[in-house]
Amino acid sequence: MDFRLPDETDRWRDELRAFLRAELPDGFEGDDDFFDDEEQAPFARAFLRKLGERAWLAPPWPREYGGMGATALEQMILNEELAWHRAPSGGRLFTIGITGPTVLAHGTEEQKARLLPEMASGAAWYCQGFSEPETGSDLASLATRAVRDGDDYVLNGQKIWTSNAHLADRMIVLARTDPEARKHRGISAFILDMRAPGVAVQAVPNIAYRNDFNQVFFEDVRVPARDLLGGENNGWRVAMTVLDYERSNIAAISGARRTVADLVGWARAEHGGRRPWDDAHVRGTLAGLHAEGEIGRLVAWRTAWLQSRGEVPNYEASMGKVWMAMYGIKVANAGVNLMGAYGQLAPGSKWAQLRGRVETAYLLAVSGPIAGGAAEIQRDIIAQRGLGLPRG
Ligand SMILES: Cc1cc2nc3c(=O)[nH]c(=O)nc-3n(C[C@H](O)[C@H](O)[C@H](O)COP(=O)(O)OP(=O)(O)OC[C@H]3O[C@@H](n4cnc5c(N)ncnc54)[C@H](O)[C@@H]3O)c2cc1C
Repeated sequence: MDFRLPDETDRWRDELRAFLRAELPDGFEGDDDFFDDEEQAPFARAFLRKLGERAWLAPPWPREYGGMGATALEQMILNEELAWHRAPSGGRLFTIGITGPTVLAHGTEEQKARLLPEMASGAAWYCQGFSEPETGSDLASLATRAVRDGDDYVLNGQKIWTSNAHLADRMIVLARTDPEARKHRGISAFILDMRAPGVAVQAVPNIAYRNDFNQVFFEDVRVPARDLLGGENNGWRVAMTVLDYERSNIAAISGARRTVADLVGWARAEHGGRRPWDDAHVRGTLAGLHAEGEIGRLVAWRTAWLQSRGEVPNYEASMGKVWMAMYGIKVANAGVNLMGAYGQLAPGSKWAQLRGRVETAYLLAVSGPIAGGAAEIQRDIIAQRGLGLPRG
């Protein structure tokens, strides 16, 4: 079987690489595949604008909304190349990866015309307000309320683990609009302006002492009714579209494969008079990780292929999510073991290897199986929708 992509996608990849060589300062290292720290944010904003000016941020979107009118394959190549080159994330996952396709699927013509061009230009960054203190895997039990009042809805409640909320301009948010209905039926989705009065963002530092996610509080926040997405009490369908897109994961696999390539480079060099590469165990570990990375890449590409045929990936995306989360842990563990004590030094230490990336990856990898829907839930989806097994 030939897994190669069509020739024209190679040309697109070459164009992107030339752009990245020109635009990324020598030795530039983005913070992570999904997050930018606050210091990097201004550069990330300018970088995204440059992609947006070329209509390159959202290749599959129609030209009238700022896209290239291309396919999901071009989007995947973009995501893969940006992650491999550790370009700034710019919250692309939440903006272009999930909210944009959801607006395309569920938005009115007015919403598409208003919201999509500002996303595709790099001007608007989104975050995702789904999880709450008492609501994670059981998302349908969410308690944030939205009550209609004239031309607005009034939002009250709290979200948590909201990645990038401190940098975002808008949020795709779920709230309960009908408390009497069965829990999946009484939810609506909204597009919220993060600068609206009554929105408060509070940092939640993570295990690596980084401010990647936040708590967000809503106190009598007025959301114009025109920002209701997908119709009142139809939020569950909207949410499912979001999650199917969220789990495609090529960026994560590409970032981890790059870490493996960096580890190979590190192992081939001399450290303290010896080359780790000369140890057969080291070579075997890295070869195994390389092979697993290729498998993950094919799983992720399968979701792009489905999208390019107009299908919404479902259990296939869950497979990519679980594989990637576990792969991220394996790569980070292998890196720390390979480097010994040096592998535990954080970015900033003069003795840190590979700029401390492995140490950070080691700390952040533990959250991989939780972010974007816990691995146990993904395995349920694979079992039920992929294998046709009964519910437990
Ligand atoms: C790095 C990171 C970034 C995140 N970013 C965002 C974001 O931007 N926006 C957002 O809305 N949320 C975000 N989240 C939250 C994430 O979506 C939730 O953490 C996740 O859905 C799990 O929910 P929970 O934390 O409430 O855990 P729980 O749902 O309480 O789960 C706890 C444990 O119980 C298991 N479990 C729960 N129910 C079942 C079941 N039915 N069967 C088997 N096992 C079960 C879970 O698998 C898990 O191991 C982020 C999380 C992380 C770690």
